[in-house]
Amino acid sequence: MKQHIPKHYNAFTCLASDCPDTCCAGWEVVLDEKSQSLYKNTSGEFGKRLQSAMILDEEGDIIFKSVFGRCPFLSSHNLCEIYSTLGESSLSETCRLYPRFFNHYGAFQEAGLSLSCPEAARLILDDPHPMSFMSSNSTITFSLEEKLDAKLLSRLLNARSAGIALLQNRSLAYPLRLGLLLDFIVRLTASLFTADPNTEAPLCSEYQRNVSLQNRLNDLKRNLPTPDTPLLKTVFQLLKSCEHRSVSFTHRIDTAISLIDSEPFTVSELWPISSTQSHYAEHLGVYTLFRYFLESVFTYEPLIHAQYTAFASLSTAVLAAAAQRQAGRVLTPVEHQKIIFSFSREIEHSIPNMARIEDSLVADERLSPNRWIAFLLLKQ
Ligand code: SF4
Repeated sequence: MKQHIPKHYNAFTCLASDCPDTCCAGWEVVLDEKSQSLYKNTSGEFGKRLQSAMILDEEGDIIFKSVFGRCPFLSSHNLCEIYSTLGESSLSETCRLYPRFFNHYGAFQEAGLSLSCPEAARLILDDPHPMSFMSSNSTITFSLEEKLDAKLLSRLLNARSAGIALLQNRSLAYPLRLGLLLDFIVRLTASLFTADPNTEAPLCSEYQRNVSLQNRLNDLKRNLPTPDTPLLKTVFQLLKSCEHRSVSFTHRIDTAISLIDSEPFTVSELWPISSTQSHYAEHLGVYTLFRYFLESVFTYEPLIHAQYTAFASLSTAVLAAAAQRQAGRVLTPVEHQKIIFSFSREIEHSIPNMARIEDSLVADERLSPNRWIAFLLLKQ
């Protein structure tokens, strides 16, 4: 099956015992049926260990009972005992595939690396060049259960390409690109569900030309409401209300909230232009749009994905700026990447957190697209 992937995708190798933050601790791994059956039928002492570690969780899934927050098969050297005893093919689907993600759309599928893994985050963020994509043939395929509107998918693919190109337009400061992305998707949503598939083509090309982008920026700046600091406070109150797996993440949120109140962040602190890490924000935005935007073929809600792209970009920018203020120096790439992969672990990989954030982005007037656009465009 044809597969679209980012170019860094095939470079991934798990760091195993050298990983600074193993994925085998802090998370529950749901065991798929094939793995459950394999583990139930494994004989000997190791089989007994597997069988006694399998429990039913509150959601009705079979998981391994963690020991002090760690997978019971993670050795003291941070190596997987299932891998070393039974071989890679005996790993559960989640363990075998992570940090890869797969999205399937009938005739093709897309795959990528999740930002929640430190090594994947390094591969995604390190390269200063714009993130690029390619096609390959995949041996890992999934069947599509949901009905798919092929025409809508094709329109969404065009719109996402235009959105990614806009986020990678380095002639504009990153917050301007984000604000224009939201503006583009607001206007696109109005035309996307009409019968004429050519309705949005002029709109897509309008957001590719620098002259029309500048005209649009001028129009927006004249007509938008005054930007308000409550947006930043609202974003961080929302993050504070989410469930946190690690105390250090809660601490980062609390630090950011106290700094938002006492000494507001400037745009150049949030999105420094000359920093060697200034492309991190762009890569995070492109990653988010690539990973989630096509879900709208099932949900019919493209705007929520543009809003979440802005939400993730602003949250990680503030967390990095807060850490930098505390350190009194520029963050190292490793420190900055840790902030981004921790955010992905805590927020993006939590179904309740993502549901809470998406509900707020839809229903909370303080987080409406216009408020975002005003904050991103006018706070310059
Ligand atoms: S977080 Fe990534 S690098 Fe670390 S152990 Fe898991 S897959 Fe390997």
